[in-house]
Amino acid sequence: MRNSVVCTTCGRIITADSPGLSHGEYHWHACPHCFCCHCCYGNLINQQFLLKDGRLFCSTKCRHVYDTSPKNAFPRPNPHAH
Ligand SMILES: [Zn+2]
Ligand SMILES: [Zn+2]
Repeated sequence: MRNSVVCTTCGRIITADSPGLSHGEYHWHACPHCFCCHCCYGNLINQQFLLKDGRLFCSTKCRHVYDTSPKNAFPRPNPHAH
């Protein structure tokens, strides 16, 4: 029996029939909801990304924003933001 691989973002098992992405010890579902920037939620599939503590970021700017924000005050994505 192989160990189940769990998605770092959503915490669900990545099954054999769902595509996954791996980087070192971290794994994600290969979908825009799981493999996206932890700050701006931009899709990172086939994009350059930064990894910090298992969290994905699209840029040092996003990483810095996340680093300097209290976790419980971190803004949620707003699809109507201008
Ligand atoms: Zn996932
Ligand atoms: Zn970002």
